[in-house]
Amino acid sequence: AVQIIDLHKSFGDLEVLRGIDATVESGEVVCVIGPSGSGKSTLLRCVNLLEQPNSGTIVVNGAEITDPDCDINAARRRVGMVFQQFNLFQHLTVLDNLTIAQRKVLKRDKADAERTAMENLEKVGVADKARVYPATLSGGQQQRVAIARALSMGPEVMLFDEPTSALDPELVGEVLGVMRQLATEGMTMLVVTHEMQFAREVADKVLFMDGGVVVEQGPPSQVIAAPRHERTKTFLARVL
Ligand code: ATP
Ligand code: MG
Repeated sequence: AVQIIDLHKSFGDLEVLRGIDATVESGEVVCVIGPSGSGKSTLLRCVNLLEQPNSGTIVVNGAEITDPDCDINAARRRVGMVFQQFNLFQHLTVLDNLTIAQRKVLKRDKADAERTAMENLEKVGVADKARVYPATLSGGQQQRVAIARALSMGPEVMLFDEPTSALDPELVGEVLGVMRQLATEGMTMLVVTHEMQFAREVADKVLFMDGGVVVEQGPPSQVIAAPRHERTKTFLARVL
């Protein structure tokens, strides 16, 4: 589970997160929705310690990762992240994209890392692309490789920041399909997305953020289908 308690983050004078409280239970999928600039990416980046929060607490499976004594690299290993822009290493083959961190960070030997990589490429349906370079793949295939790369590190939690926003519409489904499968397998997931259909069908809980706060949260049947707050209604009217 991920517990986020009274999380604050500022960039200079700009307070981007103004006291976020949220919980992702183990095996749950929580979708974060909200307008541009509301702080969704910053929230995810704090959970992965890509940003240092100003105050507040984040606990991942019982370990407080915001504790100053916490080993940041150890904490990061437990949380996988998938970005809008894939962020694959273009000069490495697909297979090497999946093995490099396993070998350097987890100290796995080559055979072990390649076995884990191939299992995860198979899981996301791109095992036949192991020997090619990312540039030869479609966006949907590249994003599936990025998911397989994150999974190869054995994360306890997966963060997705608009994983389908950079894709051509016909490629969105294959990535959402992989995410659905992960959810079914019980992966704990925190997903920023504009895919309301996905949120409706897969999320256990939806958080609506605006202006650095969680305005409304609850099951999709409530937040998406019957929002209580005016700001949520206005946002949904624009995206649905
Ligand atoms: P979008 O839907 O456009 O991705 P978002 O909800 O993910 O938006 P964030 O990227 O978290 O929003 O940004 C929230 C605010 O914080 C914005 O005003 C942004 O300009 C600002 N911000 C984000 N990162 C930084 C940074 N490194 N330095 C300064 N300001 C930043
Ligand atoms: Mg963002």
